[in-house]
Amino acid sequence: MTETTPDAAPRATSATVAGAAVHAATFTTHSPATGERLAEYPAHGPEEVARAVTRARITQAGWAALPASRRRELLLRWKKAIAEDLDRVAATIAQETGKPVGDAELEVVLTLEHLAWAARNAPRVLGRRRVRTGLFTVHQRASLVHRPLGVIGVIGPWNYPLYTPMGSIGYALAAGNAVVFKPSELTPGTGVLLAELFDSAAPEHAGLLTTVTGAAATGDALARSGVDKVAFTGSPGTARKVMAVCAETLTPFLAECGGKDAVIVTADADLEAAADAIVWGALSNAGQTCAGVERVYAVREVHETLCERVVEKAKALRTGADEGAAYGPMTLPGQVAVVERHVSGAVAAGGRALLGGPDSVRAPYVAPVVLTGVPEDAPAMTEETFGPVVTVNAVGSVDEAVERANASRYALGAAVFSGGKRTGAAIAARLRAGAVSVNSVLGFAAVPALPFGGSQDSGFGRIHGEEGLRAFTSVQSVTVQRFAPAIALTSFAVPEATRERAVRLARALHRRR
Ligand code: NAD
Repeated sequence: MTETTPDAAPRATSATVAGAAVHAATFTTHSPATGERLAEYPAHGPEEVARAVTRARITQAGWAALPASRRRELLLRWKKAIAEDLDRVAATIAQETGKPVGDAELEVVLTLEHLAWAARNAPRVLGRRRVRTGLFTVHQRASLVHRPLGVIGVIGPWNYPLYTPMGSIGYALAAGNAVVFKPSELTPGTGVLLAELFDSAAPEHAGLLTTVTGAAATGDALARSGVDKVAFTGSPGTARKVMAVCAETLTPFLAECGGKDAVIVTADADLEAAADAIVWGALSNAGQTCAGVERVYAVREVHETLCERVVEKAKALRTGADEGAAYGPMTLPGQVAVVERHVSGAVAAGGRALLGGPDSVRAPYVAPVVLTGVPEDAPAMTEETFGPVVTVNAVGSVDEAVERANASRYALGAAVFSGGKRTGAAIAARLRAGAVSVNSVLGFAAVPALPFGGSQDSGFGRIHGEEGLRAFTSVQSVTVQRFAPAIALTSFAVPEATRERAVRLARALHRRR
């Protein structure tokens, strides 16, 4: 069900929430590129959120009762609806985030791949599975099944307003749950459209995916609404607040937060390929990617050449809102000051700007910035910059590169460029990051079967892949007694001699190697 209808006039509005007309305050979205007013949405409060959750709960019962094959069919129908409306979805994303339409299209394509995987694999991954029993339980048949949790509250960010939350929404629905989605207040239109398309594809299950709109207060209301799990994507600071709210009711919580991803470049790496990937990984989407490249550690032998190539490629890029632009404006106006502080701070601390510098920041755009020699304790190296800035520092060895890459309070993604694939994989194994690409950047994000998530300030829990499906379930274990056991131990009527025989047998067995 779609909760919100963009309204032309800036005023308080009536919106239909879970079948009831309510009066809500509103907020307005603006183009990050031009500042132009885009649309107005209701700021849903606790009452509207509660109604959405109640309706989702009712609808979920019917959804969970469907055969898994039917759920798959309906989710694939939804996927088709998104694909057929790809232009409108991409245009909405581009309008709200400011990213070029081509980037928005790519985001929709990635989302479709994930939704297809979740729909097709949920029956296999979550279906009932027999497990072996043990010596004293041979009389039992044992199995487990992953059951939906109920209603999942999804709180999303603005940087990939479709792809990122769908990592939770698509997988949660495929696992048999209902979802109440609170998109970022910068990108509510994308969330509203997503729910609208679900309703059009599966009208008999309208209300299973509901979008509620608003800012922090709406997200807070969702966390307090009695949902069965909250899947949050955003900054670690907000994650702490939402988790504290969830802790009050022991509501399970999944956190996908920021990153400070490192790339390691070894002496035998293909420097042309590495430079190309670094520039894209650092600058695409104006650097507003949770697993974007922010730090590069190149061994000294190749550092200078790598820097030259990175600068040469980054220099050729143009910012803007038109078709030919490599990337658009900063979506969140407040982030511009963070980028400016990091770049100025890096230069003041002794770092060298190889391309651009503090003057590259011309809100709402930031031209590419390439830094080197930045001290490891500068904010540009320790905090998430979330802008088109990359630091390429020299290191004496791969060991030092690994140590520096791991010395961050973030641990989301990473990449290794190495001449030998085996060497690359061996270096990857030494990194703490939750996902690593060898000889590419962000390779893992496009493989739906791969779980995605991090640790420390990057959050915890996993979306995508089998783990991402199981994240929205609880396991029920079942034993069915097939026959009366020869050695029955779960009865007060067991003779002492039988108990002693069992202990003797176990002792003899477990003493063996
Ligand atoms: P944010 O933390 O400001 O907001 C995230 C969401 O939380 C928004 O919907 C916001 O309205 C809501 N919110 C804010 N305060 C709240 C509160 N008190 N209670 C409940 N909800 C609240 O983050 P953002 O600026 O939207 O997104 C950028 C961040 O997201 C970056 O740190 C980025 O790295 C991260 N991110 C992570 C991933 C990932 O998968 N790991 C993906 C994309 C973005």
